[in-house]
Amino acid sequence: MTARIIDGKAFAVGVRERAGAAVADLKAAHGLKPGLAVVLVGADPASQVYVRSKAKQTVEAGMASFEHLLPEATSEADLIALVERLNADDQVHGILVQMPLPKHMDEAKVVNTIHPDKDVDGLTAISAGRLVLGQDGLVPCTPRGCVMLAKDAVGDLTGLNALVIGRSILVGKPVAQLLLAENCTVTTAHSRSQDLPGLARQADILIAAVGRERMIKGSWIKPGATVIDVGINRIPAPERGTGKMRLVGDVAFDEAVEVAGAITPVPGGVGPMTVACLMRNTVIAACQQAGVDVPTSLDG
Ligand code: NDP
Repeated sequence: MTARIIDGKAFAVGVRERAGAAVADLKAAHGLKPGLAVVLVGADPASQVYVRSKAKQTVEAGMASFEHLLPEATSEADLIALVERLNADDQVHGILVQMPLPKHMDEAKVVNTIHPDKDVDGLTAISAGRLVLGQDGLVPCTPRGCVMLAKDAVGDLTGLNALVIGRSILVGKPVAQLLLAENCTVTTAHSRSQDLPGLARQADILIAAVGRERMIKGSWIKPGATVIDVGINRIPAPERGTGKMRLVGDVAFDEAVEVAGAITPVPGGVGPMTVACLMRNTVIAACQQAGVDVPTSLDG
């Protein structure tokens, strides 16, 4: 039996629609218009695409979008000064500094300048600490998206064995914390882990966040498991010689789909959830800053 394909694109549309509906309610009931500021330094083409997509979806959700496009040569001090101005701006409820930053900047220093209440990417030390401590805070978007999709596929995750492959600050570590909060038994694997196939075969929930194309084979998957593939890897498209590229995940999808119970495709799985959760985080941040209850429609 082949796995159910988890439609992250459709799920993300639902998340964005609920965020949009919450924005309309906040405007009507409280005169509150959530605002998201996105800062891009330099002209990295992939980052430009991400920033444009974030700004577009922010406006579509009825929120205010503030784009700050700075030249590559911007000094770290000037960037930090901008973040501090955004921290103090009442119209800005969320701040996102697009990574990667140019080499002459200390990314952690810049990120930690963002006020934790406006940290819609969930990457400051305070947000990470709140997540570990189980305190209310803003949670990184891709990890939140992974857990939303897993819960939608499985229901209650309590007691399930979860394997997270990857331990980055952006994905692996926060997703492991979120799964722990869902009462999973969580194992985090990485490049020094031994017997990855053996670990994977015990996993009811497998989250792959490695960045190595189709590394996780179908024979590693526990029959019926839920597989969430975060990886985005560009490989040459089958039409050889055309120079075209296509995206594949960290999981060998064609094999895994024959064994898993549910699986996310790449593209169209986790990817769309990231920006949708950013919209959701911006609404949550605006509510918290205005002292308004976060709408229960955003739960999940
Ligand atoms: P990082 O490169 O920061 O982390 C990769 C992790 O994978 C590391 O912890 C590394 O281990 C581990 N790893 C590397 N090789 C192996 C191996 N052979 N066996 C086991 N573990 C290994 O990547 P990110 O976490 O930032 O991203 C992971 C993937 O997710 C990428 O493809 C990225 O493009 C994608 N991504 C997708 C997003 C989306 O919106 N869908 C958002 C963010 C990322 P170690 O720590 O030991 O080096």
